[in-house]
Amino acid sequence: MAMTILYPVGKALYINLTNQCPCNCTFCIRNNGEGAYGSDSLWLEHDPDFEEVKAAFAAYDLSQWTELVFCGYGEPTMRLELLIETAAYVRSLPDCPPIRLNTNGLSDLIHDRSTAQDLAGLIDVVSISLNAGTEAEYMAVTRPKWENAFAAMQRFAVECKQFVPKVMFTVVDVISKEEIAAAQQMADAAGIPLRVREYTP
Ligand code: SF4
Repeated sequence: MAMTILYPVGKALYINLTNQCPCNCTFCIRNNGEGAYGSDSLWLEHDPDFEEVKAAFAAYDLSQWTELVFCGYGEPTMRLELLIETAAYVRSLPDCPPIRLNTNGLSDLIHDRSTAQDLAGLIDVVSISLNAGTEAEYMAVTRPKWENAFAAMQRFAVECKQFVPKVMFTVVDVISKEEIAAAQQMADAAGIPLRVREYTP
């Protein structure tokens, strides 16, 4: 256990706010080890508070990074209030690069309300894990705790388009070509670009 709140991935600085997540994805990086991309352990001693996040940023010069990314060893929107507070804080600092949110897209179910508007003016890019091309495959791969997760994730993605400059879906290339083609169709129908990510063991 450690308190790795910030960790570099290439030229991006990643933000680890929580280990909580309402899903149990078959390919989750947390099943493979302690960290990501050479980081220290991303299992947190406790979910950080805002003061701890601010203290972590004090050790970094933001001008050295091309992007800040809410990601980590859990679903960032589980800590939506802290995420928003953190995004507002870093945006107030000099040389703040663009901010991306990597999410499973289930924030509305987590908080039992529409949440896309909370990101307005704070998040530049939202990257949402579509994970599959069909609801059955999504449920099998993502294993969320809600039966209506697939529809809620897509609704959140479409709503984000109103409030965030760039929204994208992702799938990991562990799924079949047919599933990727189906995911592409779904993304096209929603008017959201799809990125096929390479699986990193
Ligand atoms: S949503 Fe992300 S953190 Fe949660 S289980 Fe899936 S891959 Fe892991």
